[in-house]
Amino acid sequence: MTTSYTRDYWEKALSALAINGQHFIDGQSVDALSGRTFTRTRPMDGQLGAVLQRGDAADIDRAVASGRAAFASGIWRHKEPLEKKKIMLKWAELIRAHGEELALLETLDVGKPVLASLNVDVRLCADGIQFYGEMIDKMYDEIAPTGPNARALVRKVPLGVIGAITPWNYPMIIDAWKLGPAIAAGNSVVLKPAEQSSLSAIRLAQLAIEAGLPAGVFNVVTGFGEETGKPLALHMDVDMIAFTGSTEVGKLIMGYAAQSNVKRVALELGGKSPLVVFEDADLDAAASAAAWGCFYNSGETCHASTRLIVHRSVQQALIEKIEAVAKSDIALAHPFEPSAQIGALIEKEHMDKVLSMIAAGEKEGARRAFGAEQVMSETGGYYVSPGVFVDLTNDMSLARQEIFGPVLAAIPFETEEEALKIANDTIYGLAGAVFTRDMNRAHRFSEAIHAGTVWINTYDMSNFATPFGGFKQSGFGRDRSVHAIDKYCDYKTIWQQFG
Ligand code: NAP
Repeated sequence: MTTSYTRDYWEKALSALAINGQHFIDGQSVDALSGRTFTRTRPMDGQLGAVLQRGDAADIDRAVASGRAAFASGIWRHKEPLEKKKIMLKWAELIRAHGEELALLETLDVGKPVLASLNVDVRLCADGIQFYGEMIDKMYDEIAPTGPNARALVRKVPLGVIGAITPWNYPMIIDAWKLGPAIAAGNSVVLKPAEQSSLSAIRLAQLAIEAGLPAGVFNVVTGFGEETGKPLALHMDVDMIAFTGSTEVGKLIMGYAAQSNVKRVALELGGKSPLVVFEDADLDAAASAAAWGCFYNSGETCHASTRLIVHRSVQQALIEKIEAVAKSDIALAHPFEPSAQIGALIEKEHMDKVLSMIAAGEKEGARRAFGAEQVMSETGGYYVSPGVFVDLTNDMSLARQEIFGPVLAAIPFETEEEALKIANDTIYGLAGAVFTRDMNRAHRFSEAIHAGTVWINTYDMSNFATPFGGFKQSGFGRDRSVHAIDKYCDYKTIWQQFG
């Protein structure tokens, strides 16, 4: 029987939901040592959400010690590969089995439609854990070429204790991008989720234990960046920080690594991705890609296609089509409504920031084509409608700053050379796209856009086989794909001489 996911269904599920806001350390739910807590406000209606533990350096010490003890004992990394694989696959199955509960927790925290949480975020989280679980018994070491009387083994070994610091826009997916490869490689992890989105991380840790992951291999400490993330990144017994978040905080993380034990750092940071539309493009396809690429998840997407670089001759026609897609296909509604394609922004402060960036853009002369206004304020939640500004130049603030809201900046161009110059004129290099029917131009252009992922005549296609990450100030290191394992390992060479 298929479930009918009505608003009423989710309201009932919410009233029966047990919410745990405790740290998860050494296989146990525990309070902060300080006894301090903080509260979360629900973005969908401004009501009180969860009460969470307010972690600090003492909690981080405790979690790192647990991760180190698990690593030193070898209880996980020295387990038979087939056994480890079974545990990770079971974990993925448990995530799927608890999909509705996880989706609800995610939506309460971040305000996205609960069906998106269920059908996208939960699914991709489980798929990520499964992908790396399946790799465990297929990873080989190497024997280097040597003379006849020697053998040199080149072993790929786990680093030890990984600190993962993650953002609030796709919490479960990004957690899985770190947890999957780090744990499959044999490491322990201490995860500090964003203060706005801890609930799914806590539940993932509980499910990991239920699947058979030994205590201490995956710990979660909740709290604020300065109080919890900083001591994790400065910790002398943490071997690496895998960070996803803003470029501003990414720079701090590099500093913390340098100030402490020269731990490794992998950074997935911000973006201001160009979507370039030439005059010969399929405008319907381009409009759909531009609208979904920018407005999905209310624009709270690192690789959102926020700069629409469009040939001047088709700008007007394209914007009309984008408006039609935004208004007919991308329904903004309460996250429990089955029709909702996008929901609330993460919190009031963020909504106010988005609205003030829009106001500043208009002061500079940006012309609004439609939308980009606060709506549904009667709900108590934080909603902004998708909107487009046109006839911008690439030096205007709406074209330069990462807004992290549903705001598209259209910048017209005349020549291919000019389009490329505008596309690459940004501190970021996370993603980009080109729409044209001229395949020579498509390939020439896709090579020339300086970004970690470039799409031709589409946007946001992805799967676990492909690496994800940025160039320039969008960071370094890659999540997803078999290559993600590498950054959680180091090479160790063992020589032997024989007669
Ligand atoms: P953020 O403010 O940089 O926060 C990210 C994480 O860092 C949070 O857990 C945060 O904790 C923590 N943090 C803040 N200050 C810290 C400090 N001094 N030391 C250690 N940790 C600290 O980013 P966000 O607002 O959560 O997320 C949005 C940003 O993430 C955007 O720039 C977006 O582009 C980027 N992002 C990038 C990717 C990618 O794959 N490239 C994916 C998703 C998001 P608190 O929550 O307590 O502040």
